[in-house]
Order: sequence, then structure tokens, then C-alpha cells
Amino acid sequence: MNYRHAFHAGNFADVLKHLVLVRVLTYLAAKPKPFRAVDTHAGIGLYDLDADEAGRTGEWHDGIGRLDAPFAPEVEALLAPYREAVAAVRARYGARTYPGSPAIIREALRAGDKGVFVELHPVDAGTLAERYASDSRTKVLHLDGWTALNALIPPPERRGLVLIDPPYEERGEIDRLGTSLLKAVRKWPTGIFLGWYPIKDLSAVDRMAAALDAGLERPALRLDLMIERPDDPTRLSGTGLIVINPPWTLAAEAEIVLPALAERLARGGYGAFRCERLGPEG
Ligand code: SAM
Repeated sequence: MNYRHAFHAGNFADVLKHLVLVRVLTYLAAKPKPFRAVDTHAGIGLYDLDADEAGRTGEWHDGIGRLDAPFAPEVEALLAPYREAVAAVRARYGARTYPGSPAIIREALRAGDKGVFVELHPVDAGTLAERYASDSRTKVLHLDGWTALNALIPPPERRGLVLIDPPYEERGEIDRLGTSLLKAVRKWPTGIFLGWYPIKDLSAVDRMAAALDAGLERPALRLDLMIERPDDPTRLSGTGLIVINPPWTLAAEAEIVLPALAERLARGGYGAFRCERLGPEG
């Protein structure tokens, strides 16, 4: 386990992932019925952008660091809950903090909602458990997120989301994301599933999306954000999320936000996006 998210926190991929996560959480919190958010690869929840790790890559400068200037009003309206979550965490922990997915989920939890955070790295799981020990709405599990997922769904609330955000250290993890999503949605057909992926080799992502398109019995979206031309499969030229059972508003929201992000976060003048329906409605 070599991957440390502290080197990458707040980069363009985190911006897309956390923005979509917040849109889904906002949708869930719009109804009074409690929900549960399961984060299978949670990390440590808070990152210091002044720390050595973040400074060594400087990745956040081309992510959250490019969001200071306002976007057009219709984009800002959709970005607002993400900006509010980041601001709330910064108000509590410091202006140079960037929230990880557990912190973002925690901001959205109401009294009856639950957050379950799974992390395999022993030190990181300990850090997260200590951080949230006093919050009875949250639980941290030191387990393998891939296998824990099966035991955690469907949750007692029967309402909520699962974020699958692996480090992609091993070959074939993109295909594993696709097969795990298919299996999970069969076990919990009404859950909202968000599967994050890096885009280096676009053909691997296309293959995973085609398998989902053919195998899914539930609607899904593929949301890609490209910040470089995908010419070199060794470079992280884009990022994306599969969202199964997306809130009915999400596709229209993505059509507004993704082009704005592609323009703002582009490197070398190339930015692009994709918002594609998969599954029975694709
Ligand atoms: N979701 C986090 C966020 O958005 O802030 C970032 C997660 S980071 C991309 C991936 C995390 O998964 C790392 O903290 C890594 O230690 C952890 N990890 C790696 N393999 C895992 C596994 N099999 N089960 C659970 N966690 C794992």
C-alpha cells in the first residue's frame, strides 16, 4: 500500500469527485428520510495543503487552487454546496485544509444520517477513527473496502450512497470497479453508487463503461473530465465517475458544470468533458 492521498488532495480529480459527491448528498438531504453514505476507500479525511506531501507535487494548485475566481451564476449555483463544505471544514480546521470524502460526507449528515468510512491502511484508519470518535453518526472500519462493501449493503436505512474511490495501484482495477459496481447494484438495486476512476488509458475506461452499459439493469451516468489530450497512457489526462441510480437532476447539472470545469482546469489549452447515459436508459 504505497498510495498516499496527501500528495494528491485537492487536485482536479478530487474537485470533480467531491463536487459530484456533494451534489448527490444535497439530493439525499433534501428529503427528511435518513440516509447512509458508505465510503469504501476513505483516506484520512483532512489534508493540509501546506504540508510537505502536498507541496512536493503541487497538484492542488491546478485543482481547488483554480476555483477562486467565480464562475457564471448558473455554475456557481450548483457549485455552492461544495464551496460551503470546503469553507465549513476550513473554518474549523484551518484555511489551508482540504477536506477528503469523509469530511465532505460528515458535513452533509443530519442527526439521523450515518457515514461509514472504510480504510485499509492501518495508520490512516487509526487517524480517521480518532478524528471522528466523538461523532456517533460516523463509523470507521479498518477493512478491505472491496470485500466490506458486500457486507455493508443494503444499509438499514435503504437509502443512500456508496463511494468507491480506490488508489489504482494494481493492474486491472478499472475492470474491478466495473464488476464490483455490477455486483453491488444487484445486491442493493436502489442505492446510488459513485465509482471514481483516473483516465490515463482511455480504452480501459471505455471497456469498463461498455461492460456496465451492457450489464446494468439500472440507469447510470458516465461523467468524464479531460484536462489534457489523452495521447499518452502514462499521464493522468482526465478523471471520471460512474454514477449508478443518479439523482434525476444530475445529468442536467453535469451538462452545466462539466464544461465550465473543463475550461477552467484545462492544461495546455485542451479541456473536454463527457456526460453519457449507460444502462437501460443509455
Ligand atoms: N476517498 C478519499 C477522498 O476522496 O478523500 C481518497 C481515497 S484515496 C484515492 C484511496 C484510499 O484507499 C487510500 O487512503 C488507501 O490507503 C486506501 N486503500 C487502498 N486499498 C484499500 C482497500 N483494499 N480497502 C480500503 N482502503 C484501501
